[in-house]
Amino acid sequence: MIRLSPNSAVTNNIARTKIVATLGPASNTEEMLAHLIREGVDVFRLNMAHGGREQHIEAVGNIRRVAKQLDVSIGILVDLAGPKIRLGKLAADPLVIENGQTISFVPGAESNSTSELVCLYEPLIREVNVGDAIVLADGIARVEVTEKSADRLTCRVIDGGKIRTRQGVNLPSTNLSIPALGEVDIDNARWAAGIGADFVSLSFVRNADEVHQLRAILRENHSSAMLISKIEKREALDQLDSIVEASDGVMVARGDLGVEIAIEKTPMAQKKIIETCFKFRKPVIVATQMLESMHTTVQPTRAEVSDVANAILDGADACMLSGETAIGEYPVEAVRMMNNIMLEVEGAYTHGLPRPIDAELDLQSPISQAIVHAAADVANRIRAKLVVIASSDYTIAAAKSKQRNFVPTICLTNCGEIAQQMSLLWGVTPVVIPKDFEKRKLLALVHQLATQHCHAKTGDSIVTVTDTDLIEGTHDTVLVSLIQ
Ligand code: PGA
Ligand code: MN
Repeated sequence: MIRLSPNSAVTNNIARTKIVATLGPASNTEEMLAHLIREGVDVFRLNMAHGGREQHIEAVGNIRRVAKQLDVSIGILVDLAGPKIRLGKLAADPLVIENGQTISFVPGAESNSTSELVCLYEPLIREVNVGDAIVLADGIARVEVTEKSADRLTCRVIDGGKIRTRQGVNLPSTNLSIPALGEVDIDNARWAAGIGADFVSLSFVRNADEVHQLRAILRENHSSAMLISKIEKREALDQLDSIVEASDGVMVARGDLGVEIAIEKTPMAQKKIIETCFKFRKPVIVATQMLESMHTTVQPTRAEVSDVANAILDGADACMLSGETAIGEYPVEAVRMMNNIMLEVEGAYTHGLPRPIDAELDLQSPISQAIVHAAADVANRIRAKLVVIASSDYTIAAAKSKQRNFVPTICLTNCGEIAQQMSLLWGVTPVVIPKDFEKRKLLALVHQLATQHCHAKTGDSIVTVTDTDLIEGTHDTVLVSLIQ
């Protein structure tokens, strides 16, 4: 018998908008993972910028084991740090720097003075100039370079704050020589291919060529992972269409974006990025500081709650938790809170969520896209209990997802990896069917799923979309059937 996952919107009090949770010391045990999945996590992010290879290997093992036990398709996102520049080990952790204070950057990976900072980007002192701004810890602190020598950048603190070892360093006014995919990223991409990552994301993408470059590395290493571009640079916003087109999905990486462009520009940038993802039917994750205060408190702020709600209304497929689940004190509560906010927003609409734009049919699979559109429309009009998509083509599921229609949607696939990749798609519950499943049994299965999981009773209707030639000579079929 084919069962549905315990974190599916079809059966449980789980939102249609997906949740990506970053793993870290606060969450990397089998017990905690199972808990987080039950609360609504669909994809776990392994952040290559933190933690060692051993911890990541352990996390992958834990996720796959728990997903198997719970019989659920959970995605693993390996997040490559890209040309992210970080602080080295500080003399105190956290270290408070005060407005007007003089502080220096010196060579090395470790500092033993509270007035000296170190940075893991070796050419920093060479490439930064007097007058340049250096932004620390995702914008928490800002310093300006006042003097430069061969082995020291002397800086004045413009905005003081509390900074920590290994936090980010952004240089919005400096042209850096660092490549998009450094040696470490390439090594991590190969590793991601080896462990069967479902998604690989690249930080600080600047153009589509960098996306193609990463894809080539993944394909060489026999990975069909979906490639997620993290939009967090001015250059990426300028090349948005081509980057989104070249990627399989996108992340609105507001942490770095809010430092690389003026922070007040990020809300409208988020809307523009999401619209572009609708145009190209790519899933989009909104990330960073969504429930930031839940690192240390059980209650988020009103502004954070509104932020999650508005991301969904903007059209996000998924919202991401970062430190909240990686190092926070309340990882389970954060996921539960996020899911509850999502349910409230979704519950305020009758048939589906507003969409930022209606995408034109593209030329790659116009029939399938039109069919999916029709299926969502039919399902709404006849108040169908369930839409089932039985197709070998992931893009049909992605197109259906972008309809933002509320009729529960199950996507059947006989490939576990594709099911894991579907975990990011808004409103889609992936279900794996056996490889030797006979298509003549499809309708019986559809009815079984509807009665077992969607309370369908005699006379209720189900909409099935399939590209199998259930009826001879057809390309795609939308089929309405009634429960007998
Ligand atoms: P990060 O990416 O957490 O890996 O930096 C997300 C962001 O920048 O918002
Ligand atoms: Mn980032």
